[in-house]
Amino acid sequence: MNKKFPLTGIGSVAIHASGQQNADYAHLTPIYASSTFTFDSALQGSERFAGADKTKIYSRWGNPTFTTAEETIAALETFGISDAGGEPLQVKALLHASGQAAMTTLFLSTLKSGDTVLSHFSLYGGTQELLQKVLAEMGVHTTIIDMRDLNLVEDTLKKDPSIKLVHIETPANPTIQCVDIDAVTKLAKQQGLTVSVDNTFATPYLQQPFKYGVDFVFHSTTKFLNGHGTAIGGVLLGKDLEFMRTRVWKWHALLGGNSNPFDAFLLTQGMKTLELRMERHCENAVKVAEFLSAHPKIAHVNFNGLASHPDHAVTKKQMRHGGALMSYELKGGLDAGRRFIDALQMCVRAVSLGTVDTLISHPATMSHFGLKREERIRYGITDGLIRMSVGIENIADILNDLDNALKA
Ligand SMILES: *Cc1c(COP(=O)(O)O)cnc(C)c1O
Repeated sequence: MNKKFPLTGIGSVAIHASGQQNADYAHLTPIYASSTFTFDSALQGSERFAGADKTKIYSRWGNPTFTTAEETIAALETFGISDAGGEPLQVKALLHASGQAAMTTLFLSTLKSGDTVLSHFSLYGGTQELLQKVLAEMGVHTTIIDMRDLNLVEDTLKKDPSIKLVHIETPANPTIQCVDIDAVTKLAKQQGLTVSVDNTFATPYLQQPFKYGVDFVFHSTTKFLNGHGTAIGGVLLGKDLEFMRTRVWKWHALLGGNSNPFDAFLLTQGMKTLELRMERHCENAVKVAEFLSAHPKIAHVNFNGLASHPDHAVTKKQMRHGGALMSYELKGGLDAGRRFIDALQMCVRAVSLGTVDTLISHPATMSHFGLKREERIRYGITDGLIRMSVGIENIADILNDLDNALKA
């Protein structure tokens, strides 16, 4: 950040963090729809390849429109955090075509055949399939446990020297379980292991994993960071700058999961209102959770912002609020759930989350369709469970829509 004075709020950081300049003095970083960047001379070309001249070369390796989004996310994830020497923490962000592309770069640049990833159950469906289908065939093993049990985490780490990466997703999809980032990171660091956190559900507004000494933070920017559902994207941030600039950058460039200038532009615009949107998302979510918990047709609600959620204490330790994701089951199970979903008039029937609109989906037949039933049930994803990403509409309209649909 090249500002002359320190910004005191994350809302200002989201708007002003990037120091990108452009030759035409355009207020916003333009959409640099250009695959390649020209050299004035052979010498200049060679200087760019040698790294002495930071101007971009080729858009698979970086593009100015990506840089603005990357600098903004890096500033949000490190806002108010110091490194060991008391200086503002520096991290490097790499924008990708999707969350899955960023996850692929993370796993392939940190793991090799024979290594094991330790993760929490109730993972994002795509992450779990990437690990258990694609990486498994390449000789990378995955151990999935309940990471909320810290003794189990400690035992598992001590017993299995093949574990190289501890991957935490918290809050986790769709049960909104929360893993204690600080405690698990301490256990992993005792064994000298690498820790990554999927911060998609929380966003840096609610939770900043770098505070606890993790190595990597991951986002599907498709969700709250973009906020408007206009583009698929992902980002991988790392605090070992040398490792990020060499191996991680190289793997990213070679795997070809680069973003594109239009999506990066949409992401940058979306992030400017992150704080405002998150405040409203969270305020609405509490009201929706309270309404549903008190409703006679609802069997139970999973929302970490409620004191009744088993991970409420961990939520309070590491998150500013519970967030805007919840899941719930109707007393009538699957059939009642289907009738309810079909009767909604305003809330949108769609997978994905974190958009300004309230989105409703059915994990068992949609996002987690790829998992075996027993496994799904073990993770708490019962047949009738409904997932909801609470939007920023006026609360009365959300509650009316839910109330009417529950009468169906
Ligand atoms: C959506 C999502 C992903 C995958 O991201 P894409 O942008 O869809 O590729 C990974 N993790 C979580 C928690 C997600 O919600």
